[in-house]
Amino acid sequence: MSIEAKKLIDELTEKLNYYSNKYYMDDSPEISDYEYDMLQRQLKDLELKYPQYAHKNSPTVRVGGGVEERLFTPVAHRVKMESLQDAFSFDELRAFDKRIADEVTPIYSVEPKIDGLSVLLEYENGEFVRGSTRGDGEIGEDVTANLLTVDDIPKTIDFKGVLEVRGEVYMSHKRFLELVERQENEGVAPAKNPRNAAAGSLRQKNPKITAERKLSSFIFNVQYIEGKELETHIQSLDFLKSLGFSVLPFYHKAKGIEQAINIINQIGQNRGQLAFDIDGAVIKLDNLGQRDLFGSTAKFPKWAIAYKYPPEEKPTKLLGVEINVGRTGALTPTAVFEPVSLAGTTVSRAVLHNEDFIKEKDIRIGDTIIVRKAGDIIPEVIGVAEHGDGAEPFKMPQSCPSCGATVYREEGEAVIRCTNAQCPAQMARHLIHFASRDAMDIEGLGPAVVTLLLENDLVEHPYDLYTLRLEQLSGLERMGEKSAENLLKAIQKSKDNDLYRLIFGLGIRHIGAKAAKLVADKLQNMDAILTASVEDFMAIDGFGEIMAKSLYDFLSLPQSRALIERFSELGLNMQSKTVITDTRFEGLTFVLTGTLPTYKRSEAAAIIEGFGGKTASSVSKKTSYVLAGEEAGSKLDKANSLGVPVISEQEFNEMIK
Ligand code: NAD
Repeated sequence: MSIEAKKLIDELTEKLNYYSNKYYMDDSPEISDYEYDMLQRQLKDLELKYPQYAHKNSPTVRVGGGVEERLFTPVAHRVKMESLQDAFSFDELRAFDKRIADEVTPIYSVEPKIDGLSVLLEYENGEFVRGSTRGDGEIGEDVTANLLTVDDIPKTIDFKGVLEVRGEVYMSHKRFLELVERQENEGVAPAKNPRNAAAGSLRQKNPKITAERKLSSFIFNVQYIEGKELETHIQSLDFLKSLGFSVLPFYHKAKGIEQAINIINQIGQNRGQLAFDIDGAVIKLDNLGQRDLFGSTAKFPKWAIAYKYPPEEKPTKLLGVEINVGRTGALTPTAVFEPVSLAGTTVSRAVLHNEDFIKEKDIRIGDTIIVRKAGDIIPEVIGVAEHGDGAEPFKMPQSCPSCGATVYREEGEAVIRCTNAQCPAQMARHLIHFASRDAMDIEGLGPAVVTLLLENDLVEHPYDLYTLRLEQLSGLERMGEKSAENLLKAIQKSKDNDLYRLIFGLGIRHIGAKAAKLVADKLQNMDAILTASVEDFMAIDGFGEIMAKSLYDFLSLPQSRALIERFSELGLNMQSKTVITDTRFEGLTFVLTGTLPTYKRSEAAAIIEGFGGKTASSVSKKTSYVLAGEEAGSKLDKANSLGVPVISEQEFNEMIK
């Protein structure tokens, strides 16, 4: 039994570490928060029962998150940015209260728990001087330039003392839906939920992108202050409000836990009316002096607790299944059902993923299905409560709903695709993808213009764009002479793009912008790419078998070759602009840590990559070298314990001479 317990603890720890990394570092979760919380619960229960098997750095005891050192400068937080303990039942809240009430007569502050990304804002002399993410709670990422673009974060305040405040940066539902629509039109994978959209918009290098995403903030805590005494939490929130911060939209005082639970119920009932996501409500001891009596664990303060609302589930009638055709010809089913109110919003559609999902749940049109919203704004179908009278098992269409061509399902794949490369639904999405920012970046060629061109039979393939003439365009409805000229200029300009943009623009399955860049950097020109074998592609660092095979298969098709040849005839650049002549670091992985005497970390990383090497953010047995500067911390210890060679900047300079 205990061997089984150990195995389970190991498995759960590994699983949670994996999901946590996807969520915090890649901003791209693979499971819902509810599922994650339930796995974490399971691990916590096992660890309590079998403490001898608990991992020292288990996800249940550490603040989740880290620092992406390739992108951001690390910032040491003066006051630890802690997480919160969570509760899934009111009894757990009562047990929490009992521990508090044993020591003091509690007054609580009850607040919404905003589902965004935790940030720290630092002010000195009335000026916003630095902003960072939570990271692992002690060291975060410097995202000042990006935070400067968030409108409701005050850049100056009427308080001259040192002030550090903590808050949540989030994306409102409205902005999120706009973003998803734009991403779908551009053919890029749409953001999964507002929380991850906010995190992804803030945790990237280009402040222009953050600005476009129109993020907002809610400030919920004074982390550190010099020059003012504050006695209660609610008083400090009022003070922040008076300074112009966008403080939490509401916070209530509760005398005792039953009052707090009442407020939590009310917040829960109204959460669907809010313009942003909340994933719970937080109860905090209001008196700041009293908090010191309770202290903190390594992960969270003992004077606060977050109640997580259970996902709301409701039955409804499935009216139909709508099929959309994507850029790659994938047919995706969407459930259309009688509108129901879930977590306060009315919903009538939910994703059904694919044929297998429908089969597994035996979902039939006319059935009473159960739909759920787990905090995210996109609902899901969790199963069937009752089959409808005479309802037949659902069958995916045998032909494409857009063009009528036959559809196929590849072995080992869940997706059904349209076989017709000329399918209008695919063509529109294909052209939009080709012109999108990460691909050929053709300004002015968005979904509306693509539709216009297709409707007027002016283009069929992406290469037709390059032979468009002014007189064809300027005669079109909703297209003035000036816009037509600008569009033609933008199209011509794209001919000179770096090769990887064209490769990505071809829309090859499994080949994203990053993979396109890897191939272009490695093989340098289109001829070399066209003559490469699957093995050659697999030898590229960062390429797996699926990617290599998909690229090879695409390039082997006569129509793909013809397409590329046509692009070449039209004068599109077929050469990579990243010239790597010296590949002395090929196959080597470096980890950078501490402050280097002369290089910034980003500069050192660029040098390494320029010589064909890679950088990583954590040390493992696979690390070739740790380049350590001053005040290098745990990574240095880890390198020493694993026997990974540690080099100084001077030694590094010798290597790159
Ligand atoms: P948490 O989100 O449960 O609580 C702590 C956070 O709440 C703080 O960082 C803070 O910024 C935020 N917060 C919002 N409003 C607040 C308020 N009024 N007062 C105080 N804090 C407030 O804990 P966590 O450790 O950041 O992350 C755990 C959460 O992340 C869970 O909900 C979990 O489901 C989710 N998660 C999901 C996945 C996944 O794969 N889906 C993976 C890892 C974590």
